[in-house]
Amino acid sequence: MEERRRGLTTTLVHARADAQGAGLAPPLERSTTFRLDAQAEEALATRADVDRIDTYGRFGCTTTRLAGAMVAAVEGAPAGLVLSSGMAAVHGVLTALVPPGGRVVAGGVLYGGTEEVLARDLSARGVEVSRFDAADPGSLEGALERPADLVWCEAISNPLMQVAEVGAIAQRCQAHGALLAVDATFAAGMAMQPWSLGADLVVHSATKFLNGHSDVTAGAVAGAARIVAEVYACMTRVGSNLDPGAAWLLTRGIKTLPLRWAAMRDNARVLAGWLARRPEVRALHYPRAEEHGDCMRDDGAMLAFELGDAAAARRFVDRVAVAAHATSLGGIETLVSVPARSSHSTMSAERRAHLGITDGVVRVSVGIEDVEDLVADFERALGGGQ
Ligand SMILES: *Cc1c(COP(=O)(O)O)cnc(C)c1O
Repeated sequence: MEERRRGLTTTLVHARADAQGAGLAPPLERSTTFRLDAQAEEALATRADVDRIDTYGRFGCTTTRLAGAMVAAVEGAPAGLVLSSGMAAVHGVLTALVPPGGRVVAGGVLYGGTEEVLARDLSARGVEVSRFDAADPGSLEGALERPADLVWCEAISNPLMQVAEVGAIAQRCQAHGALLAVDATFAAGMAMQPWSLGADLVVHSATKFLNGHSDVTAGAVAGAARIVAEVYACMTRVGSNLDPGAAWLLTRGIKTLPLRWAAMRDNARVLAGWLARRPEVRALHYPRAEEHGDCMRDDGAMLAFELGDAAAARRFVDRVAVAAHATSLGGIETLVSVPARSSHSTMSAERRAHLGITDGVVRVSVGIEDVEDLVADFERALGGGQ
């Protein structure tokens, strides 16, 4: 009889590194070196199986491997890997998969750190970067007329929450023989699963939703074993592996990802509905599954809204008391920020204006607090008086 496939939450809650021991929580492996039996000795000598067998800390251990396997489960992908930060994952993918003198086609709106890697590290390697609009897959056709090594985009863009049509993008990449990597940090494997839509590799800042408690810096990739292995090889060369202690915290965080996501998404829906009715709000950016049926599996847990000007946005983030004015996202606490002054401050004002990121945009990472408290907080922060 074929075994019934378990649901994701069951899989994550019962994830353990090994079948030994009676403890329910996975053990934390702190050793940086291991006694070499014949198999481990062979692995170390040939580097063939060092990703699977304990030999030396930088090559990983049961704790980091468990974290990687849990990320793979979240994305529905065959293989996963954790790294020391989201940027270590971004940099690892872009340098492992794009050869010197190669070509990348990138979405128009990317995380600032990713832009820097493209502009500095990749350009220093003679890599050419062209652009396309991830919300308009047709715009890839022109860009892929010349061969490209990698297409890169973000599943849901920051800060205006534009959704990449990953299925249609993946089809075009396959037709042109280019790999597709999707930074799915804002989608968390919950709003979108790029691997299931045909992407070759999914990249995460696990600092955000995957860990979810604003207390671990980590990155992750998930995809086909062969491609993940290339990023792994690069990671072990550079030493951008994740510390086992951080990996252990990450495994604990991921266990409740589906539960946290549901609470955040529910709160985001309520806040989006409430904000849409406020006269101060000029525009609301909230990605909904019903508007992106081909690629989204669930509504988002992040939103952005536009107030009249920079002063109004500044006033709002200064006045919230339940939400915190802070950068980052995906944690259990609601965070608000002004992208023009934080995540997108290094971008030129002209480019921000071109992309619609006005000085009045406020970004919200919706947490799991009681939603009435969030509504009351936003009402007071938006309102007059005091
Ligand atoms: C935060 C973030 C990163 C970088 O991750 P770190 O963990 O801060 O290194 C990359 N991409 C996106 C979309 C992010 O939000």
